[in-house]
Amino acid sequence: MNEMNNQSGEFHGLNLSAPILKALKKQNYEKPSPIQIETIPAVLSGKDVLAAAQTGTGKTAAYILPILDRLSKGKKVQSNLVRALILAPTRELAAQIFDSVQNYGRFLPIEATVVYGGVKINPQMIRLTKGLDILVATPGRLLDLYRRNSINFRQLEILIIDEADRMLNLGFLPEIHELLTRIPARRQTLMFTATFSEDVRELAREIVTDPVEISVNPQEITVNSVKQWIYPVDKMRKTELLIKLIKENKWTKILVFTKTKNRADHLEQKLHKKGILTAAIHGDKGQGARTRALAEFKADKISLLVATDLAARGLDIEQLPLVVNFDLPHLKEDYIHRIGRTGRANATGEAVSFVSAEEFPKLRDIERLTKQVLERRIVEGFELENPLPESQLDVRPFKIKKPKKRKQ
Ligand code: ADP
Ligand code: MG
Repeated sequence: MNEMNNQSGEFHGLNLSAPILKALKKQNYEKPSPIQIETIPAVLSGKDVLAAAQTGTGKTAAYILPILDRLSKGKKVQSNLVRALILAPTRELAAQIFDSVQNYGRFLPIEATVVYGGVKINPQMIRLTKGLDILVATPGRLLDLYRRNSINFRQLEILIIDEADRMLNLGFLPEIHELLTRIPARRQTLMFTATFSEDVRELAREIVTDPVEISVNPQEITVNSVKQWIYPVDKMRKTELLIKLIKENKWTKILVFTKTKNRADHLEQKLHKKGILTAAIHGDKGQGARTRALAEFKADKISLLVATDLAARGLDIEQLPLVVNFDLPHLKEDYIHRIGRTGRANATGEAVSFVSAEEFPKLRDIERLTKQVLERRIVEGFELENPLPESQLDVRPFKIKKPKKRKQ
């Protein structure tokens, strides 16, 4: 993303220790991103942080780098204890965060592991007996392990909640509340979110104390660094259009979003029959299948990954050139999350959307949210039977949702 280039400032100026700077060099990170510039000093100073920034702005390193620094200076823990807990809403995201911990901490003597549901619990119980500097976890499995006495939070120093907005959308509030009764009140708490809804603010009021609030252009970043256009197309001809575009444009690494799990599976099958190496990820796929699909996609063994919004949330796939919205998302905000998969750190990306006449109201909302009318490209032979109305840019901002009443 361009912001990372333009920003003055250096990792050297942020007071991180030499082993961390060395790891960053290995990652080829030249400069801290804006969110990193603001977050790192706040975390190092021991303060609570509440940070909102769009997907792809480098939030993971923004908290991992300073906590690695803090933890490497403290003392070791005994078995089944943990010093820093990172909560993430999905298994994929937890696995990805753990990868980052390992990458950024490779030159530090840090003990870390990751636990999530959908896989056997026993090996995780064994890994926890060691005592950890950093534990990355999804909420459900974490509480499960707690109830089995595999983990104790007595010495917890830092709590990090990543993707707080998604955590709430997925209904993890009860788990978070339960966890809060189990962990020390005296701790440092960091909370990260892509969006600042009233729900997120309410959770923040419960868990962070006198936080440093950081917010980096929540919505404009990705939208501006990604070239976007739409293909008006009849609903029944989307697959045909996709195959034609793949062949004509020699698209080789594409993330395709569908609105349902069923449509993801169907599309995968149809593309497969056409000889296009494809995998699908969604909530009904087992953990093994999801991890495998993602790894194959990253390693260029398959050229196309079909995903639903939930499964793709937060996934970091490096240098993804193209995102295809096979269907527009249910939630207009997810459009921004989806196209945030491309045009990440230093790369420019493209995002195209297939829009049928019945999806026009969704298109209108997306154009209003992103404050632009998307260019339309008609492919010969795919002229609409049922035409798409003209877009008129609606410049009124969306109202911020009223806070929901909490059940007592
Ligand atoms: P977010 O959590 O905000 O969505 P991530 O932490 O997943 O973003 O980072 C997005 C991408 O940017 C990742 O590929 C990451 O390796 C890369 N990245 C993060 N910080 C930097 C940096 N300072 N310089 C270059 N690339 C970076
Ligand atoms: Mg993230």
